[in-house]
Amino acid sequence: MEIINVEGIVLKSVKYNESSKILNILTKEYGLIGVMAKGALKPKSTLRVVSENFTYANFQISYKKDKISTLLEGDTIDYFINIKSDLEKYSYLNYLSELTYNVYKESENNEIYDLFKNAVLKIEEGYDPKVITNIVEIKYLDYLGIGLYLDGCVVCQKTSVSTISLSKGGFVCAMHKGNDKEYLANTIKMIRGYYYVDISKISDLKIKKEVIDEIDEFLTLYYREYTGLYLKSKKFLKEVK
Ligand SMILES: [Zn+2]
Repeated sequence: MEIINVEGIVLKSVKYNESSKILNILTKEYGLIGVMAKGALKPKSTLRVVSENFTYANFQISYKKDKISTLLEGDTIDYFINIKSDLEKYSYLNYLSELTYNVYKESENNEIYDLFKNAVLKIEEGYDPKVITNIVEIKYLDYLGIGLYLDGCVVCQKTSVSTISLSKGGFVCAMHKGNDKEYLANTIKMIRGYYYVDISKISDLKIKKEVIDEIDEFLTLYYREYTGLYLKSKKFLKEVK
């Protein structure tokens, strides 16, 4: 057992007995940590606020690797006030958290923390939550082992491509497109942009609605077809929209 100070975000929390909670905190250095927040449900507990879902804070934790650790204290970095006051944005955060939890469990890759954190910060700053979420989704595919091939035709590597193929998992040229749906040329260009963009450096997002919607449609179908993830929060997101 050691005392650690670590930045993280609460992805999930469940009630444990009358007054406590168990949190799943995603961190960069220690990955996903299971943490007991003793007494966090008591009105006067100092752990109450920092034990809420989606808390982004510096946590002090009595750390036990591969066991339940204990939360000692937390110091909130950002309350995500804009997200929490907007049902649509909040639904995206809810979905992104559930997705991140699942992707982390599958890959245990510590790069996921920054991807997730930067995405949430951009949504909080006011960028389109659908675009930001799609950017994260496309990047997460690599960690799920089903990344899209976006540097040419997935079959012949020719660089002039004509659409993106659900069944082949990437761009295809005119010769190899078969029965694949024709997406807009801008959709093809932007989807590659989504994949390569550094989320923390996004400063303007001027994308046509039809392009945004096509990318969202493609990714929704691709996730449904290949990830085996059925997330309650995704269903809820659809209902909110
Ligand atoms: Zn080809």
